Amino acid sequence: MFINGKFTDGKSKERIPVINPATEEVLEEVPRGTPEDSLAAVEAASASFPNWQRTPANERAAALHQVAAKLREHHDEIVELLTKEEGKPVPENEEELWWVEETFDYYAELARHETGRVIPPGDPDQFNFVRKEPYGVVGCIVPWNYPLLLLAWKMAPALAAGNTVVIKPSELTPLSTLKLVEVACDHLPPGVVNVVTGYGPETGEPLVTHPDVPVIAFTGSLAVGQRIATLAGPMMKKLHLELGGKDPMVIAPDAAMDVAVSGLAYSALLNTGQVCTSTERVYVHESIMGQFSEELADFVSKLRPGNGLEETTDIGPMIRDKFREKVEGQVAEAVSAGAKILTGGKRPSSLTRGFFLEPVVITGVDHSMRLMQEETFGPVIPLMPYKDFDEAIALANDCQYGLGATLMTHDARLVKRFFEEVKAGTVWINDPLTDNFAGPFGGMKMSGLGRELGQEGIDEFYEVKHVHWDIEGKLKDFWYPY
Ligand code: NAD
Repeated sequence: MFINGKFTDGKSKERIPVINPATEEVLEEVPRGTPEDSLAAVEAASASFPNWQRTPANERAAALHQVAAKLREHHDEIVELLTKEEGKPVPENEEELWWVEETFDYYAELARHETGRVIPPGDPDQFNFVRKEPYGVVGCIVPWNYPLLLLAWKMAPALAAGNTVVIKPSELTPLSTLKLVEVACDHLPPGVVNVVTGYGPETGEPLVTHPDVPVIAFTGSLAVGQRIATLAGPMMKKLHLELGGKDPMVIAPDAAMDVAVSGLAYSALLNTGQVCTSTERVYVHESIMGQFSEELADFVSKLRPGNGLEETTDIGPMIRDKFREKVEGQVAEAVSAGAKILTGGKRPSSLTRGFFLEPVVITGVDHSMRLMQEETFGPVIPLMPYKDFDEAIALANDCQYGLGATLMTHDARLVKRFFEEVKAGTVWINDPLTDNFAGPFGGMKMSGLGRELGQEGIDEFYEVKHVHWDIEGKLKDFWYPY
């Protein structure tokens, strides 16, 4: 762990092994943090807050640019560690780390641009302005699927805004977070960044319930998000929750077949389908369903599962066996209810170690199946035909989640209807799963609260204060007595 500028085992007596999901080998062990360790980290972060808050924004910006520069110096080493720890192929980890480096640079600049606004006074003698102020200590609770990217989207804007942070990485992927702090945060004052490793209930919950942690920035499952909201609600904490998804893709009859096939395979199978915005439900116009499903199955059957460190690998392992079993269970249930697998679904016989699963293309599905309603978080592409665009939109909206949604078409009238009528925090047309620093990312409905990235992504870490300043300070005729 990293508390008050020092690496420490804290009060922990046990260790948690971190496993490479491609080989099942133990990479390293980290301390199983205790509630007392989280309290010590909060204490350090609280103590460092007043000075960090007072540090001029341009100095904080310089410090964050330095974080980005140091990460670039250690880029290859961190990419290799991410690949070993999380499993996705090297090109995907190159992309993840590039995003992390750029996020620190982006928020370094954004935060020194402005911290509020001057507004017209209600009285000629007054000066009125709105100050954006940091909250204090931000608890950043992070999942395993993009351990550094989802951390950077919280940590960079929180620090840039003048908050200090306590980070709780996933117990499955803590090594890359500890590496980031080791190689890129040594110039920051002690206590500004702290990391407590361990399990959610033991080191995450103490942050959620601590009175000196006014903000919890969480990415993870709906169930844990609900638990956090239940605990933090009565304390009136600011909650920033990025939760699950079940993203739809609609393929219109005019869509270019090669773009739709290859775009869908990418958006459904990136990181072995373990992306919150993975396409998990696909609605194909009935007139092209036959040809589309055949071409997709052919394309997907040629993707090569393997260790993410090997150049020949397209699809890495799943993170753990229990997640693979959940995916297999949803697929088996759909098949027993009449669905048909066109390709995939087996554990590859050539890979005897690791949590691999051949990517699945499956048809004959409907909304009575868990596969079409619950988050799958694995390499499965279920295809369902639709008759007209009203039906496509109704199907896309028939889900508790509202994270992202994609439409493949060149028909502008369909595009307009899609972005107006589909309830999702991000809509992609012909280009699924792209991000943009300048624009917000987050979910509607049960996919969460708040946004990351863009101006919205830093505003989450400021509270606003309206200052009314009467410069003249004279008696008012509307005061007592009436
Ligand atoms: P998870 O909810 O199991 O765990 C996330 C983090 O919360 C981990 O660090 C975990 O240790 C911690 N945690 C667990 N119980 C806790 C508790 N009681 N109190 C405090 N912290 C606790 O999620 P996961 O399996 O790591 O990640 C996969 C999930 O994350 C999927 O549902 C996915 O959709 C979601 N996700 C969402 C986004 C998004 O931006 N919306 C992005 C990526 C992943």
